[in-house]
Amino acid sequence: MSQNKQRLSWLEMLKVNQRAYLLFYKRYPRMILSRFALIIWKALTPYVGIYFSALIIEELAGAKNPGRIHFLVLLTLFLIAAGSLVTALLEKWKNVQSAGMWLKIKKILSEKLFETDYVNLDETKNMELYSAICQNHNSAGWGLYRTLEDCEALCQTVIVILGGASLTLSLFTSQVPESAGKYTILNNPLFVILIALIMLAVTCISPVLAGKAGRYLTSLADIHNLGNRMFSYYGHLGYDTKKAADMRIYRQDKICEKYNLNKESTFGSRGVFARYQKGPVGFYLAGASAVSGIFTGIAYVFVCLKAWAGAFGLGTVTRYVASITRVYGGISTLITTMEDMRSNAAFLNMVFEFLDIPDHMYQGSLTVEKRNDRKYEVEFRNVSFQYSGSQEYALKDVNIKFEIGKKLAVVGMNGSGKTTFIKLLCRLYDPTEGEILLNGIDIRKYNYREYMTIFSVVFQDFKLFSLPLGENVAARTNYDRELVTEALEKAGFKQRLAKMPHGLSTCLYKEYTESGVSISGGEAQKIAIARALYKNAPFIILDEPTASLDPVAEAEIYEKFAEIVGDRTAIYISHRLSSCKFCDKIAVFHHGTIVQTGTHQSLLTDQTGIYHTLWQAQAQYYT
Ligand code: ADP
Repeated sequence: MSQNKQRLSWLEMLKVNQRAYLLFYKRYPRMILSRFALIIWKALTPYVGIYFSALIIEELAGAKNPGRIHFLVLLTLFLIAAGSLVTALLEKWKNVQSAGMWLKIKKILSEKLFETDYVNLDETKNMELYSAICQNHNSAGWGLYRTLEDCEALCQTVIVILGGASLTLSLFTSQVPESAGKYTILNNPLFVILIALIMLAVTCISPVLAGKAGRYLTSLADIHNLGNRMFSYYGHLGYDTKKAADMRIYRQDKICEKYNLNKESTFGSRGVFARYQKGPVGFYLAGASAVSGIFTGIAYVFVCLKAWAGAFGLGTVTRYVASITRVYGGISTLITTMEDMRSNAAFLNMVFEFLDIPDHMYQGSLTVEKRNDRKYEVEFRNVSFQYSGSQEYALKDVNIKFEIGKKLAVVGMNGSGKTTFIKLLCRLYDPTEGEILLNGIDIRKYNYREYMTIFSVVFQDFKLFSLPLGENVAARTNYDRELVTEALEKAGFKQRLAKMPHGLSTCLYKEYTESGVSISGGEAQKIAIARALYKNAPFIILDEPTASLDPVAEAEIYEKFAEIVGDRTAIYISHRLSSCKFCDKIAVFHHGTIVQTGTHQSLLTDQTGIYHTLWQAQAQYYT
């Protein structure tokens, strides 16, 4: 995806940065306050040193009063020490408040992913946008992180400039005595303005050159991100144990080097970045540093000439040079920061484009009635559904009522609409036409989280986490150990549980701990079933629940199916028709419609029906 990085106007830049900053402030006010307090403090304290050291030198060069020198030195030392103590305290406060800054930013983005309509996650452009934002963030903090740094730098710089300017002003207004002869030209207002303008011009050239170099680099952000992605992929292959066998057999490390390590690759010595560094970027950066040397030279000559001609004393020379250099540094930083904010504004726009992705699903507020008898009646009425961007109907005119406490099998060929049917039932999508009713009310009118409490689902592509077994089953850290054990036993995991080194506290997988255990696909499926049982919802939906199980484990699940589901309403999706025999009713899907319903025996009698055809096709393998 090409990123939206056109340069924004200054006004747009200010608006988008302000929005980002307010977003931070709203979520993490103490962090923002602590950071600002430190910045303001740090910007002000150096002037204490500058001011008092000038007084001391002035005294040394002039009246040399030992008592006053003594007093000034002690006062300066005391103020500097006290200032450092306050800095350390503010630093500590800021560090505590800013801990996990990158996670905080990630949280803002991932919350959007968790909260947004499920359908938005299907859109490739949304996921590409998210990926680009993360890449920008990881590569150089572009986006939200830069806003924090830039806004703070801006604030600090303004203070530095104001402070420096107030100490420097008298450099331009102080008069050389008439006795200084030709040096009295230093009093000429036109001369003073000229010098000030030259200094200002030199001050501006340096950051403009640095900004040009920076702009080259931001224009390469797409290439940078691609390079980073390739590095993350090819650079970490050795760490990916699943690929280790193939890597050895085919020596794939060699081919990967081509994309990651050779000189022409993005970050290689002959790659695009190195070429830019040797060429325009290097040139502009060198120019920027050279200009800063010129400024210091002019400042010294001007200050020393005025001192030489008698406009002020020797002590004041250090004060003026220090403060004018700070003004110079401040203005440079101000221009560089504004440039940076403008470049970053395009990245921020991407962040807000993502955070502003609209949600269209209607959010109802009805609560779902709590019923101990689990009598929740769900009905599909004339439901049709099209995936966004697709011309075809994935479901067409589906009508079905789930019988409370009964087991319904949903069968059909691949692509016939079974999973879509379940996703609509769980309100991951809303029907394009028709409605789904819970106890006679359109499910859209219920609060979504409440509605989800009545379903337990084991999706075909379920996921477990690298967490302790018990937490995986309960989906929370505080759980009822007895109930989790019971759910695992019901799902056929009893023997394996007995072998787990730390019981329910055993961590699954080895990503984060050596003591984690590896589990097979079949074992994972049993844990996923246990998770569905622990939730103890009135509906249990199993999508191909035995796909990863060996024949013995599969038979075990079938045998125990009635016990597993208990009095829940169960929906069981399977390719294997033999496994549907124990269900009360079977619904046969074909091209998105329910073409047949009935029991196994009744469906078999219709020899022209799809069920019969499917059964015949599979029977040859099972009989
Ligand atoms: P089944 O579970 O029976 O294999 P699905 O419900 O997964 O069938 O798919 C039904 C139809 O919807 C298929 O034609 C499939 O290609 C299409 N489909 C499924 N998911 C999506 C999606 N996210 N976007 C577009 N089309 C999809």
